Order: sequence, then structure tokens, then C-alpha cells
Amino acid sequence: MGIAVVGRAGWNARPPRDPDEVEQVAWPQRTEFIVHRTEGPTTQTPRSIQDTHMDERGWNDIGYNFLVRDDGTVYEGRGWLVRGAHASDHNITGIGCAYIGVNSPTEAAKESIRALYDEACAKAGRVLAQRGHSHVGDTDCPGTTLLAWVESGMPVDDRATVPYPPPDEERLV
Ligand SMILES: [Zn+2]
Repeated sequence: MGIAVVGRAGWNARPPRDPDEVEQVAWPQRTEFIVHRTEGPTTQTPRSIQDTHMDERGWNDIGYNFLVRDDGTVYEGRGWLVRGAHASDHNITGIGCAYIGVNSPTEAAKESIRALYDEACAKAGRVLAQRGHSHVGDTDCPGTTLLAWVESGMPVDDRATVPYPPPDEERLV
């Protein structure tokens, strides 16, 4: 099952500063999924985050592999198999997914992060470890709410509890 992702062209991404520095990672090297927060306003655009990472921090590209907004929108950062810049010593093993905001992710945002995690496991062909940034680095990221959520196994509202097909239609069959 695929997940809808706004690709780089969809958010007017700049190309990496130096294409030669884009480092491909293979799925067998991926062992963990690391949740972050941008710690900025929920209205932050991926492009503004990329500008900060490239122009102020001097990175080659936006640091995260993916970003998720409160309305559930998923943005492609570096993507599945490019080494990120989001967690020291864990950028090859870890896929970095950032929540755009501070400490109040919506259910939609959590569902999208979980969907990305599930997709990552499917693509890797095995279960990846669920981590918050603070599990692998000295940081407050991803904040108390997301950290607790990750530590409880990234639960989301069980979509199976939504009757499908709806009971009325079911009776018509
Ligand atoms: Zn982080």
C-alpha cells in the first residue's frame, strides 16, 4: 500500500547544493525510523525549512527524509534512500521524519508518521526500530508528546473500527 507524498517538485524544492555529496543508502543499512519535530510554527513550509538548513546551517539539502504537517500532508525531503542530516551517527541507519510543529501533533499528523513508518518497514522487508531523536542524541526533540507516542508504539486510531462498507450498504449486498 502506497502513501501519498508531495514530491520535491510539489513544494518547489531547491536541488542539493552539491550533487556529488548526495549519498545513497541501501535498504539493508536502514534499521531505524527516527521521529523529529521542526520546533517551528505549524505553518512552516518545507521550502522555508530547506532554506534554513542550506543557507544558515550550510547543509547540502533539507536535513530530513520526510516531513509531516498537521493536516496529514507528507512531504518528501531527501526521500527513502538518501543519507539525511537529522541525527548524528544515525543518518545512514535512520530514516528521519519531522513533524512540522512543536508539541501538539494532530491525529492526522500521527497517522501520516505511522503510515510512513509502516511503508518503511514494508520497503525494508523487516521491522525497523521506532525512535525519537532524543533516543539517539542529546536533544529535546521530538518533544514530550511525540516521544511518549513513539514509546507507546506509535498508535493511531484504528481505521478498522470505521465500518466499511457502512452497515446499511452491507445489508444491501
Ligand atoms: Zn530532531
